[in-house]
Order: sequence, then structure tokens, then C-alpha cells
Amino acid sequence: MANNEDQFKKVISHAKEYGYVFQSSEIYDGLSAVYDYAQNGAQLKKNIREYWWKAMVQMHENIVGIDAAIFMHPTTWKASGHVDAFNDPLIDNKDSKKRYRADVLIEDYVGKLDTKIEKEVKKAAKRFGDAFDKDQFLATNPRVLGYKEKGDAILKRMGQSLEKEDLADVKDLIEELEIACPLSGSKNWTDVKQFNLMFGTKLGASAENAMDLYLRPETAQGIFVNFLNVQKTGRMKIPFGIAQTGKAFRNEIVARQFIFRMREFEQMEMQFFVKPGTQKEWYEQWKETRLKWHLSLGMGPDNYRFHDHEKLAHYADAASDIEFRFPFGFKELEGIHSRTDFDLKSHEEFSGKKLRYFDHEDNESYIPYVVETSIGLDRMFLAVFSNSLVEEELDNNTSRVVLKLPAVLAPTKAAIFPLVKKDGLPEIARQIVEDLKWEFDVLYDEKDAVGKRYRRQDAAGTPFCITVDHDSIADNTVTIRHRDTMEQKRVPIADLKSIIAEEVSMKKWLMKM
Ligand code: ATP
Repeated sequence: MANNEDQFKKVISHAKEYGYVFQSSEIYDGLSAVYDYAQNGAQLKKNIREYWWKAMVQMHENIVGIDAAIFMHPTTWKASGHVDAFNDPLIDNKDSKKRYRADVLIEDYVGKLDTKIEKEVKKAAKRFGDAFDKDQFLATNPRVLGYKEKGDAILKRMGQSLEKEDLADVKDLIEELEIACPLSGSKNWTDVKQFNLMFGTKLGASAENAMDLYLRPETAQGIFVNFLNVQKTGRMKIPFGIAQTGKAFRNEIVARQFIFRMREFEQMEMQFFVKPGTQKEWYEQWKETRLKWHLSLGMGPDNYRFHDHEKLAHYADAASDIEFRFPFGFKELEGIHSRTDFDLKSHEEFSGKKLRYFDHEDNESYIPYVVETSIGLDRMFLAVFSNSLVEEELDNNTSRVVLKLPAVLAPTKAAIFPLVKKDGLPEIARQIVEDLKWEFDVLYDEKDAVGKRYRRQDAAGTPFCITVDHDSIADNTVTIRHRDTMEQKRVPIADLKSIIAEEVSMKKWLMKM
């Protein structure tokens, strides 16, 4: 399917039709930018979370996991800088009355230049055939270089203006580039303003002595405030990491694009504490390790790229995004940030408690530096789901819709069918379900013709279908069909467990890292 709006619409409707993602409170017409994960979606999400946790926590002797509360003492957010600096630059279109993030409008403009570069590459690849050298073309073609230079200059100027909080220049840039409201085409803009993204709430029974709280906008701070508790009780030695997954909340203004940008979402973060001065090496190492994790899922190296930040957040000395090719273009999927000692130092100041590490080898105490990896679970879900959905033309002039989820993440690993609903076949199929369900998520289906059942499981993303027929009674064998190749094989019932395990075991997939 093409990379376009149509494809994205298909992704959204497929997610609903096959029980992956529903609009929240749909019977009340939904709540904007809030979604619920349905029976298959919850399972896919859980599998992605587990794949991350295994790679980050279980496979690293020096990384441990915690589960901090969503509510935190309100001073946390003063120390972290979120009360003062967690703002988005907003701009309204006076004609359409629509509100946008000024930086996103400008980034989308630059994204269009990137699309032009991709088109040039495609054209040239066609023209030169086998002799085409993409890297050389990108480095030398004057048109490509022109687009790239223009894009870089725009992002640099925007980064510098946001850094200096020169919002008037951000507006000037939008006007100079003649950026129009995507909805109305109007170029009639208001000034750019800042808006805080944290959701407030109250703790306490009566209005007078209630305490103002925030819903956490990131999970990282729950790790920073527990740094010394974990280090001491876990007898952790630097370098070491603390990981966690959990909900975060942001009052996103431009909450569009399905589960890409939500108001309530889930993060999977790991803060890695290192000796000051070594952060650059660790930053490079974590960039590489995290990209390998993505690539281990086999979704194609061309779908990922790094985007190093020009504009650094108030806490960072280096930052890069892993971007993924979503149906609406390359966008941030994960951030890798070198956060210096900003957070721990600030929590020391605000709490009056020492947050230092005593290094027995060097006989000195210091505030560690932090390199973090932060990925949105929902964005990862969208990356996997949208990339897996394909429509295939088949030999017999028909087509099929198939959700080629990496088998390790698929919600259901195998569907078991009796060929017909009689002659003792359902009993055998049920017995197979009973045997397999201890290890794998499996389901039983006897409704409709078997071809229709195959199609249903293809579209739902199930990697294996197992069919019990009359021969099974005599020789204890069944056919097992692979979702992606549609190949069918006759195998002994006793081998099913090992055949499925071979394809879905996390070990096998993570070994590719
Ligand atoms: P963006 O620039 O897209 O707003 P960000 O740079 O603010 O993202 P971070 O603060 O670095 O994001 O958060 C880390 C990760 O959390 C992001 O890479 C993304 O995957 C995820 N994330 C952030 N905001 C949202 C959201 N509103 N909905 C879903 N996922 C999100």
C-alpha cells in the first residue's frame, strides 16, 4: 500500500475492525486524542512492552526496573523545569480558527523538502538502474543539496529562535516561508504564544486545604527521585540503569494522527547513570543499541533514521531521535538524550537532600550524569501496526489483506480449526488448544469455510493456522499454515509446540540484536 493518507485511513479502520484500537468513550462520540486498546491491541501492546523490558532489564545485569506512581510531590515539577519550561509554541490561524504548534508547521514544511529529495532519488534510481549509487547521489546532486541546505537553514534558525524565546522570529519564519493553514490555506496568523502542557489536578477532601498536583508528563522523574534508594538497596555500581514503563499525560494542543500524539500515553524509559565525562561515549553506545533493538524486529532498515537535535532541551548536552517512516512520513519514535547532571542536581537543590554517588574505586563522590532512552509505547504500536498492514495480489487474481506483525509480537500465535464441525474433529482441535494454551496465546475457530477462517486470521495478524482434518484421526498429524507465505505443511501434533516456539520465542528475535 502506498505511503499516503489513504493508507493511514486504512490503518485506523483496520485497527478498529480487528479489535486493536477503539476511540475512547465512543458511545458518547469519543474524547479527542484519547484511545482505548481493545482485545488484540492490549495484547500487542503488552508484547511490545515485554520485548522492550526483556532487552533492557532482563538482559542487562546493571539495569533494574521500577514502577513509580503517577502522582508525585508538586515540587518535583519545579525542580525538573516543567513548571517553567514545558511549553509548546502555539499559533492560531485567524480564518480557520485552528490552533497549531508553530514548530510542527515549520518541521512539516521541511518534511516536504525531504519528500522532494526522496522523489529525486527515486527518479535517478530509475534512470541509472544498477549503476545507481544513492550515497554519492545524495552527496553531489545540486538539486538535492539545494533542498537539504534550505531545510537545514530553516531548522537552525527555528532552533536558535526557540532557544532565545524569540517567538516573533518564529512567526516571521512562518510568514517568510509562506506557510498556509493546512485546513483552509489561509496565511492569516496570530502571534506565537507559549502554552504549558501539564494537566493539573487536586489532592485532598476539601477545597481549602487541597494540594495542587500534576499528572506526570514523563516517567523519568519517578526514576530520578528514587535514584539513591535504588542505588543503595540494589547495591548498584556506576554505570547502571533504572528502567520503567508507565502512563504519562500531556495536554497536547495539536492532538491528531491517531495514537501518534495522545493526551494520555505510555512511555518506556531508561535512565543510565554514568561518571561525569563519560556521557558522550554512553550516548553514542545507547543510540546504537536502541537502533539495533528496532532492527531486530525486521521491519526494514530503510524505515529508520536518526535526527540529531539542533535545539536542545534545557537539560541536555546532546539529543537525537530515532525517526520511523509512519504512513504520514518520518516522525519521532524514540528519543536518546544526554541529560547531564541537570535533574539530580536540581532535585538536590529543591529537596535539600544529597543525591550523590560514592565511587569506591576513585574514592570520590559526585552527582552522576544521565543518558536516557525514551520511547512511546503507543508510537511503537503504531509503527509496528502500520508497517505490517499490506494488501497482496494473489496468483488467482484475488487479493488478501494481511497484517504481517513480527510473530514475536502478534497477539494470537496460532488459531486452531477443525475442518468440519463433526466426526470428532472439534474434539481433537480443542485438545490441541488445551495443550498449547499453557505456552502460547491461541484460539479456536470452527465458524465458516476454512478459507474464510484463514483470511480472518491473516487480517488479524495471527502467524499460524492449524487445521485438523479426517487424516488427523488416523495419524495424529495436522496441517500448519504460515501467514506470510501461505505455505501449508503436514506435521505431527506432537511437534506443534516446538514449531511455534521456534518462530515466536523472544530469545530468537532478541539474539538478532
Ligand atoms: P514530540 O516532539 O513528538 O512532541 P517529544 O520530543 O516531546 O515528542 P519526549 O518528551 O522526548 O517527546 O518523549 C519521549 C517519547 O514519548 C517520544 O519519542 C514519543 O515516542 C513519546 N511521546 C511523547 N509525547 C507523546 C504523545 N503525546 N503521545 C504519544 N507518545 C508520545
